[in-house]
Amino acid sequence: MLTPLKDKTVVVTGASKGIGKGIAKTFAAKGAKVAVVARSLTKAEETAVEIRENGGAAHAFEGNVADLESMKRVADETAGVFGGIDVLCANAGIFPNAPIEEMTGEQWDEVMNTNARGTLYSLQACLPFLKKAEYGRIIVTSSITGPVTGYAGWSHYGASKAAQLGFMRSAALELARYNITINAVMPGNIMTEGLEGLGDQYLQAMTASIPLKRLGSVEDIAHASIFLASKEAGFITGQTIVVDGGQILPESLEAMS
Ligand code: NAP
Repeated sequence: MLTPLKDKTVVVTGASKGIGKGIAKTFAAKGAKVAVVARSLTKAEETAVEIRENGGAAHAFEGNVADLESMKRVADETAGVFGGIDVLCANAGIFPNAPIEEMTGEQWDEVMNTNARGTLYSLQACLPFLKKAEYGRIIVTSSITGPVTGYAGWSHYGASKAAQLGFMRSAALELARYNITINAVMPGNIMTEGLEGLGDQYLQAMTASIPLKRLGSVEDIAHASIFLASKEAGFITGQTIVVDGGQILPESLEAMS
């Protein structure tokens, strides 16, 4: 059994919906105090209210991970409300479709600025507080797309998700001296509003390509994040956990039968 997260403060970026909301709710259910971060304060507040109505501790913050000053404000205010920061879940991310032949520099930059630079800024903003924690934990939400697999139309997204892992490995070395670990969860296809938007045909094709024959749940990702945030995971740093129902395993459709 993992040591309870009671009295630990967790900053979750991109927590107003999807995987981040699942992470925020699951950490809160385990007794952690949760800073719910998104660009829309109204939406972040909805998640925070839901957590408080279920007996958890949560506070909503308006923050843009692509803006360092905004994230510094979030970190300062979180520490002001909850007394410190122990865990950062750098989860916020975007995945717009853009075929290479049509992709503009602006589209590339938007994805890289949110997904890759946003990971750096979230970490930089929270670092002064993580250094003061008994043990600091950073969990990055990467993806199988990019580091392991490819998907036509998401080359910039794949590049940003692979960039997060390259960043993480060097960050692990820099942060070890502060007893801070950094690891990544690599989700496969997780049932979220964002994924739902890709349509029924996409969802059916995806489900068929997953050996466990279901899409993942946001809780599947949250549970991996909670393990990496635990005291018991303290000797693990710079590593990844693929949470995909076996999706990256088959060499061919034949291998699925
Ligand atoms: P989602 O449902 O679209 O939610 C994205 C969240 O991020 C929202 O709360 C959004 O709120 C926030 N956000 C977006 N841009 C932001 C910014 N610049 N600053 C702060 N918050 C921002 O996405 P999701 O599917 O849960 O994905 C979450 C993470 O999991 C992403 O990193 C994604 O790459 C990764 N992932 C997802 C899947 C999947 O199957 N869903 C698979 C692999 C990896 P605002 O718009 O209000 O800011």
